[in-house]
Amino acid sequence: MTMKKILNLLLVSIVLLQSACAGYIEVILLGTGTPRPSIERFGSATLVSAGGQYFLFDVGRGATIRLQQAGITPNQIDKVFLTHLHSDHISGLDDLWITGWVWQREELLKVHGPVGTHQLVEGLCDAYVADISYRVANVDLDNDKTKIESVEIKSGVVYEKEGVTISAFLVEHAPVKPAFGYRIEFGDRTIVISGDTTYSENLIKHAQNADLLIHEITAAAPSLIKRNKRLANVIAYHTNSSQMVEVLNKTEPKVAILNHVLLFGMSEDQVINEIKQKYSGDVAMGYDLMRIGVGSSIDVQRINIE
Ligand SMILES: [Zn+2]
Ligand SMILES: [Zn+2]
Repeated sequence: MTMKKILNLLLVSIVLLQSACAGYIEVILLGTGTPRPSIERFGSATLVSAGGQYFLFDVGRGATIRLQQAGITPNQIDKVFLTHLHSDHISGLDDLWITGWVWQREELLKVHGPVGTHQLVEGLCDAYVADISYRVANVDLDNDKTKIESVEIKSGVVYEKEGVTISAFLVEHAPVKPAFGYRIEFGDRTIVISGDTTYSENLIKHAQNADLLIHEITAAAPSLIKRNKRLANVIAYHTNSSQMVEVLNKTEPKVAILNHVLLFGMSEDQVINEIKQKYSGDVAMGYDLMRIGVGSSIDVQRINIE
């Protein structure tokens, strides 16, 4: 038996095991960064697995590399959900799409996102005409499987299959409109992903009774904000520590993990300590390849890479 077959059998067993454990959701933070190039924090991407299905929320820079590090090949991903169309949330989409096709993804890649997603997908397909023609000519790959299915979504339920329900809700990231957060439910378990947002009452409404809230965070030293108007503008459409405290106290998730970590002149420890002074629940800074198992208890582990 080849190594590929053994790996496939192992993956099937894992999927079956997950299906058997109704009410268990696993999350892997593939990218917890921002537009800043960082080897520690790749662009936004969060993998959710529930009911034997994978869902990828945003596909920022390097998402396919992190997937590989987590032991998942890009052809296993065919369901993508974009929170919004800022480049740091989509710049890894072409790599995931093309590499997954070369690795013989069985279904078409389906990308759900806000208005503008059709244009993004059409543009990508145009941009890769030459690459696709070379690969089809050389190794007889399936040309039909190169298509991307795009779905422009509105608030409400956007996916419902085999016990998994995914709902999109509006968040506050103006001038980016619409920008979505997502609520994922499977069995008794619920996780909520904020996407990019400043303080949002609508997020608070949709994040009630969540087991896990994955929420973006920003922070800057006040002296820096005062003398830098552009920085002030950036901070204004993200969620700062005091807003985070309010969100957490109003939603009280079992566990909160912060991502899209955008700090200026402040350390991660400073930010977490500031939040913990006014919020007594379980909150931690996320990092790339953090694996969070959400079942009757919530278990956090770092994925070991070689
Ligand atoms: Zn962003
Ligand atoms: Zn953004």
